[in-house]
Amino acid sequence: FASIQGEGTLAGVPSLFIRTSGCNLRCRWCDTPYTSWEPEGDWLTVAQILERLDGLPRLGHVVVTGGEPLIAKGLGALVKALAGRGLHVTVETAGTVFTDLSVDLWSISPKLANSTPGEESEEWRRRHDERRIQLDVLRQLVATASWQLKFVVSQPADMEEIESLLAQLEVSQRHRVLLMPEGRTVAELDQVAGWLSETCLDRGFRFCDRLQIRLFGNRRGT
Ligand code: SF4
Repeated sequence: FASIQGEGTLAGVPSLFIRTSGCNLRCRWCDTPYTSWEPEGDWLTVAQILERLDGLPRLGHVVVTGGEPLIAKGLGALVKALAGRGLHVTVETAGTVFTDLSVDLWSISPKLANSTPGEESEEWRRRHDERRIQLDVLRQLVATASWQLKFVVSQPADMEEIESLLAQLEVSQRHRVLLMPEGRTVAELDQVAGWLSETCLDRGFRFCDRLQIRLFGNRRGT
């Protein structure tokens, strides 16, 4: 689909989006359950995906998102084909698995403890917590030339976990670390955005809104 990039350093840029289905995590606040809790969609070859893109506006940026794109078969071929068309390619990932790809921007969103599902799903709660932070993978990703780290923040207590993770990764470029309010509605975003923007000012992180929710609401295909 074509939409406005709502998050990250390229927020506001009209972009093509390719959403893979399937995820190895189960975030409590996941806003795309049709790619994780209840995966759905058609099986498409790279050629079929490119054909669908041909029916969309001709834009210069493409975002491969999920789910978790890095567990999707054929991702390497897809990224190569997109780059071959001269597109700027962003790949979104939670950073739990690594594939060596030549992309223009790795958009890495490690999942904090606030993402762990509730007690209603003991098995997924355990699996999610075991998988959500993979330091070796994150180190590989932040060693690439072009990356941003995006964190979904729910509460002030999340800052301790973020600071601890950045210290372990030896990340000091705080302008490349974006903090986003958790929320699926504008009211929910606003509840966190006030104090979170102050926190960004105090600590030197980049505040990141979720423009897609303000522009389109929590709707598919945006
Ligand atoms: Fe949903 Fe993303 Fe979490 Fe997967 S990593 S469960 S797609 S929010």
